[in-house]
Amino acid sequence: MRETAAGPRVLLRRLREMMAEAMEPQERLDRIVREIAQNMVAEVCSLYILRADSILELYATEGLNPNAVHLAQLRLGQGLVGSIAASARPLNLSDAQKHPAFAYLPETGEEAYHSFLGVPVLRAGRTLGVLVVQNRTQRHYREDEEEALETVAMVIAEMIATGDLARLTRPGIELDLSRSVSLKGLPFNDGVGLGHVVLHEPRIVVTNLFNEDSDREMERLEAALSSLRLSIDDMLSRRDVAFEGEHRAVLEAYRMFANDRGWVRRLEEAVRNGLTAEAAVEKVQSDMRARMLHMTDPYLRERMSDFDDLANRLLRQLMGRGPDALAEAMPKDAILVARSMGAAELLDYPRERLRGLVLEDGAPTSHIVIVARAIGVPTVGQVKGAVSMSENGDAVIVDGEDGQVHLRPQADIETAYAEKVRFRARRQKLYRELRDKPSQTKDGVPVELLMNAGLAVDLPQLAQSGAAGIGLFRTELQFMVASTFPRVEAQEGLYREVLDAAAGKPVTFRTIDIGGDKVLPYFKGAQHEENPALGWRAIRLTLDRPALLRTQIRALLKAAGGRELKVMLPMVTEVDEIRQARAIIDREVRHLSRFAHHLPTSLKLGAMIEVPALVWQLEELMQAVDFVSVGSNDLFQFVTATDRGNTRIAERFDPLGVPFLRLLRQIAQAGQAAHTPVTLCGELAGRPISAMALLGIGYRSISMAPASIGPVKAMLCELPLEALMERMEDALANHGAKTDIRAELTAFAREHDIPL
Ligand code: PEP
Ligand code: MG
Repeated sequence: MRETAAGPRVLLRRLREMMAEAMEPQERLDRIVREIAQNMVAEVCSLYILRADSILELYATEGLNPNAVHLAQLRLGQGLVGSIAASARPLNLSDAQKHPAFAYLPETGEEAYHSFLGVPVLRAGRTLGVLVVQNRTQRHYREDEEEALETVAMVIAEMIATGDLARLTRPGIELDLSRSVSLKGLPFNDGVGLGHVVLHEPRIVVTNLFNEDSDREMERLEAALSSLRLSIDDMLSRRDVAFEGEHRAVLEAYRMFANDRGWVRRLEEAVRNGLTAEAAVEKVQSDMRARMLHMTDPYLRERMSDFDDLANRLLRQLMGRGPDALAEAMPKDAILVARSMGAAELLDYPRERLRGLVLEDGAPTSHIVIVARAIGVPTVGQVKGAVSMSENGDAVIVDGEDGQVHLRPQADIETAYAEKVRFRARRQKLYRELRDKPSQTKDGVPVELLMNAGLAVDLPQLAQSGAAGIGLFRTELQFMVASTFPRVEAQEGLYREVLDAAAGKPVTFRTIDIGGDKVLPYFKGAQHEENPALGWRAIRLTLDRPALLRTQIRALLKAAGGRELKVMLPMVTEVDEIRQARAIIDREVRHLSRFAHHLPTSLKLGAMIEVPALVWQLEELMQAVDFVSVGSNDLFQFVTATDRGNTRIAERFDPLGVPFLRLLRQIAQAGQAAHTPVTLCGELAGRPISAMALLGIGYRSISMAPASIGPVKAMLCELPLEALMERMEDALANHGAKTDIRAELTAFAREHDIPL
């Protein structure tokens, strides 16, 4: 085995010089491959670039037949080069022709070469091409040579990404990097957004690739690594994290990775090879991302993405990126693309510039999605590969109606969407016109359409949507977006703002519904639970921590001084819990009146029906409260034993099936019998077809996301309610649980020209 003539440092220095010189791109590539071949004492060095049509085209070669350049082609997955591109993993072979994937390209004359080392050209985990060296002898390339070639490949990736090679492509042929792709995800929030990509974890553009002095660079890397480790230790030792399950586990994993020898060694190696510390982090991160893309095991993917987060932290550490820089550079039509994101982080972006949100993770009821819905940002989730396929500034369309994301869309898709946006705008106009019409059915039955809210940003929607009031104010959202418990003054301030904005329209405040999937990172005392949805949450938690409830009640009472106050309790299981909560409330009322505070003119207390056990206490329940509200999201999850956040079973059982509708009808009837107002505030209220079903079984008040009010009202105004009630009565009668109610409703709507 021969030694390399000069180390990778020399090679990188030469490349740097070549990049700086003014020359034609083809000449530059030719010189680069020649330089690599010389440096690595290889007879051949070739560069293949991945085109948009999934073909790898030979762009430059030293050693193979020069006439094959731009002619020799392999499909993705074909031959050694194709498999490297497809798997994003290097291949190091001493006898390439014996490899089962070997494909012979006669035009190149490569039959003379036995040993073969090929590495993917990666950028942010995406394969852009393949770089190969070959030798006649059956040589085995050392690991450090493989590393060196990967480092060079990274430089080439930058060249491709900066558009340097675009001039070499023939007309009509595009590089893969600029290919338009349509990705399918799940629609999480309706709406269509056209705009430009803003990566939430921006690909920090490492402009300074080559180091001048690797000892100094190594010191920078070590320093950044140790402050990273210190900051993790610091987070772990903070008292509030010390008892926590999930959050702590993540940090523990971070600490383990930050000390991972393999990871650190690869970073050091890249610096020794001549990269700057930040370029080294980027290179190792890109390799990791590529592996992540090809991984199917969810546990391993999760671990790899921990490394990814860690690398981002390290990059920020090295480059000192301030968050302000991001907001300044943000386009006016930003579509955020992220693997996942905290609810608070979303609110950090200027709302007026946000046109959409694309998440690789997320579930319909995850925090970030609830907040995105609250501020009306079209959202698509579960879009695998979205981050690595996107570049900052790419044109993108988010379709929150059918869950599609079109990256770098072609002209015909853009035209189709421009039409769709115009259509939606016309519909919005129609909804605005409906806003001032009475909220009643075609046969004159009044129906109350309320909206759900949870943050101050939602309030303008009250006037815009024409809602009759707020049927569910999720007070926990203020807690979720804060970094510590909001003090009583902050709570009171928000509630006052809400009541002021409502200007006399009714508002129902739900006491904090934390626990389950709504985790407060700063909340001490929560423990990891096997089944958080069935665990210590909502009223269970607040009855055990009465100070929390007392503070909130005090804030509510003060904010509502001189006005009506409606409070509702989440996740009630036994009527006695209402009695206990009422005792706490009464105590606060007495306390405030002793100090001559201005009290609400009336106080109404309600309970949510979310736990099935309440259904067998309906009579007592209706006596114990002033109103009830059905939380159909949780009630459906518990009645059908179907985790509401689990996308795999999300469509399995239909809430418009016979059993659930019979149950909902029973609740509405119990309310009528006891003269206790009943409303429903789950997602079921927000779709015209399900809202129609609810009206058909007796509901006269429903609460939904503000954007749903228009479509639901459009349905309502055309609805002959009496006819529908008869039809539903019949459909839900004892014909067996297999009746297809959804089909019945659709047919009814068609017969009566009801827009669904
Ligand atoms: C529900 O469960 O239906 C509900 C409205 O509450 P949340 O979605 O906040 O759990
Ligand atoms: Mg609920």
